[in-house]
Amino acid sequence: MAYQDVARNIELLKNEIPAGVELVAVSKFHPAEALLEAYKVGQRRFGESRVQELLKKKTELPADIEWHFIGHLQTNKVKMLVGEVSLIESVDTEHLLEMIDKESDKAGVDSKVLMQLHVAREETKFGFTPDELLEFFRNKGYEKLKRTHICGVMGMASNTDDMNRVREDFRLIRSVFDRIKAETPDLRGFDMVSMGMSGDWPVAVEEGSNLIRVGTRIFGEREY
Ligand SMILES: *Cc1c(COP(=O)(O)O)cnc(C)c1O
Repeated sequence: MAYQDVARNIELLKNEIPAGVELVAVSKFHPAEALLEAYKVGQRRFGESRVQELLKKKTELPADIEWHFIGHLQTNKVKMLVGEVSLIESVDTEHLLEMIDKESDKAGVDSKVLMQLHVAREETKFGFTPDELLEFFRNKGYEKLKRTHICGVMGMASNTDDMNRVREDFRLIRSVFDRIKAETPDLRGFDMVSMGMSGDWPVAVEEGSNLIRVGTRIFGEREY
């Protein structure tokens, strides 16, 4: 796909997305010039899944871009990432959360994160099970954090054409978020429910997503 389609794709998508739902343009594996086409039509929030790729693009593109990290984050790369991104959407273990907090504290920066839920059928996906995440909040696992703010949850639905299954997955993610919020009233700024990608975002929005992560529908197929 030619990158001149990017601007049009963004505009079409923006017309479809209801008010109150934010768009992350997932730009992984696409070159900086593709992101720039999206930037030119006002897109400021981009999602990347590899640390080095994100940092490289950051040096090549305007400074007012809000970068979201959405991939599996290895603990040895946390130090490179903190202070460089607006949001780490993919915290999948307590150990990773602790590392993010430790490195943020050392660097003297605040970090915002989402906790990743694993509800999909595939075992390859990362994240907390609903029970593990509920347990984490019941134990007030966030209280020891010094410079890390948990802003919500992120999740993916099963990779299937069965839209009923996809809807159930999203409904479960949203219900875990709602339960955490209800059980933890002292938690401030816990508002984000990041779910929905190119193939399933309308269903995710119907089920209560307020942040969608769309790549292919904007930038075309990725060449890995
Ligand atoms: C790649 C990726 C996306 C975007 O997927 P598309 O199907 O291209 O829209 C969204 N979320 C995560 C976590 C991803 O890794």
